[in-house]
Amino acid sequence: MQRTTKKTLDAETNAASTETLNVLSTFNFERARTALLRWFDANGRTFPWRSEPTPYRVWVSEIMLQQTTTQTVEGYFSRFLERFPNAAALAEADEATVLKYWEGLGYYRRARSLHAAAVEIVERFGGDVPERFEDVLSLPGVGRYCAGAILSFGFDDRAPILEANTTRLHARLLGLRLETTTATAQKILWRAAEDWLPLDFSKSRKPNVYRRLNGALTDLGRLVCSPTAPKCDACPLAEFCESRRRNLQDVVPVLKKKTETVARTDVAFWIERRDLFGTDGKGCDDSSCDGGAPTDVLLIRRPENALWAGLWDFPRFEIANEAFRDALDFDGDVELCDRLQRFLEEEVGASPLDRRPGPVVYTVKHAATRFRITLRFCRLAGASPLEKTLFDGVADLPQTSSALVGRRQKVAKKKEAPEAERVAAEVRWIPLAELDAYPLSSPGRKLARFVLKNLS
Ligand code: SF4
Repeated sequence: MQRTTKKTLDAETNAASTETLNVLSTFNFERARTALLRWFDANGRTFPWRSEPTPYRVWVSEIMLQQTTTQTVEGYFSRFLERFPNAAALAEADEATVLKYWEGLGYYRRARSLHAAAVEIVERFGGDVPERFEDVLSLPGVGRYCAGAILSFGFDDRAPILEANTTRLHARLLGLRLETTTATAQKILWRAAEDWLPLDFSKSRKPNVYRRLNGALTDLGRLVCSPTAPKCDACPLAEFCESRRRNLQDVVPVLKKKTETVARTDVAFWIERRDLFGTDGKGCDDSSCDGGAPTDVLLIRRPENALWAGLWDFPRFEIANEAFRDALDFDGDVELCDRLQRFLEEEVGASPLDRRPGPVVYTVKHAATRFRITLRFCRLAGASPLEKTLFDGVADLPQTSSALVGRRQKVAKKKEAPEAERVAAEVRWIPLAELDAYPLSSPGRKLARFVLKNLS
């Protein structure tokens, strides 16, 4: 039965692929290019990285644009370029400074890759973005699309590109009825993307032709051949479009089923030095505790492989116990209490007293990769009086329960914290006035703003 199904699927794939390749081989690229470029001259979008398309500016913009809208990137691009005007300036900066200029753009792995790539550009290519496809592709954070974009937009080289907008456009133009991420579909789509770029134009005769064609294909996909309700009546390629001819616009492109998002609850803590070490902020042997004010707040640097890896944040724990997913008070969550206690003792150097989460004082909901996260912020139970003025309406804090301490000790004995569960790559006490200068995770920044606003 399985073999028959696979055979049938293979036959369908072959038929769809042959059908599409036939359309591709008869596609009138010459006339279509003329129509497309005429449309682009009148309707193409303007962006700072397009008006002055140096390879460095294009590279930075392409990394920023991964998973992020052009509108959002426009707000960051100029500020970033002002601070890091070339690869050498970017390579010289420390990672924290780069992350600070990236803060709010999300997907911080991109910023770290950009920084690492800048170092390579300086060391391997003398400070200039390389022009060979293989060299560009070898840079951290650069994939096949990105390398093509850097070469075509930055150097006006004949390099095809394929991203969401052009994938949809090519699939519709060809009437491709294969799921677009399959290997067969990808081969066809990349070939189409390449066939759009003529071989016979020399740059001296047609300057910017590759830059303009790739820009035009992207813009047409974005502005006209939209995911739902494509504007076929206004499309300069309507007469060439197989999907329009066969009325397939609603079924092409064939998309992969979306990965389901996972709901998760995290708890983060606003902890001041006096909450652990008393009103003089001392009482700790650890050298990191010396010399600060009682109101210094505890920040952690997110560990590798965690969301927002490398950014600063408030100590944060995922709630594993289903029963506490919707809770507003985590004092009864034995596992959380255990992890919090262990973190404070082992990583912050607090003396082994029983410290528990206070009531939730602030909530942020956000999405990150495949997670929908509800992030609850707490202070420690019995924290400084600031809590009462900051967070009006919070109920009086519960006292220590000796039964709970007993249960916690049991859990602590049973479970050693594995390396993967480490809360922090680094912990630091920060004066409130310096909080603004730290590259924080976006929910962390929201809490910081909330607290600072209420303090002033
Ligand atoms: S005719 Fe319609 S479906 Fe075809 S490329 Fe143009 S907008 Fe897209």
